[in-house]
Parts: sequence; structure tokens; C-alpha cells
Amino acid sequence: MSEYRKPAFERMEASLLACPKCKRAVKPRKRLLLVLPEGDKYLYLCPQCGSTCGDTIETPLRPNR
Ligand SMILES: [Zn+2]
Repeated sequence: MSEYRKPAFERMEASLLACPKCKRAVKPRKRLLLVLPEGDKYLYLCPQCGSTCGDTIETPLRPNR
């Protein structure tokens, strides 16, 4: 197995994402898109061309009561 596999979701900020338009890795801007019941949905936007490089849903940590 030569491919290095990461866990599907990591609890970290994306530092670099591949932009489909610029065809290179960019440091994306994070923009809040939607507030969903299950969490806040963010878009990662390319700072060069504004293309969407990816998205993420951040689930809030609900305190148990
Ligand atoms: Zn771009």
C-alpha cells in the first residue's frame, strides 16, 4: 500500500487546499455559509479567484446536561 491514508475528518483547520481553477494549493479563506441544526457550514474559498475549494460542517460541542 503506497498511498498514505488520513482519517476522513480531522478536527483541524485546513491549511492548504487545491483550487480547481488555479490548479494549485492555496491557503483558503473560511466563510460561514449556513447555520444548520447539526452545525455551522463553512465554505473554503480560494483567495486568488474566489472559487470554492471545499466545505466543512463544524458541529458544536453540546454540553451534556
Ligand atoms: Zn483559485
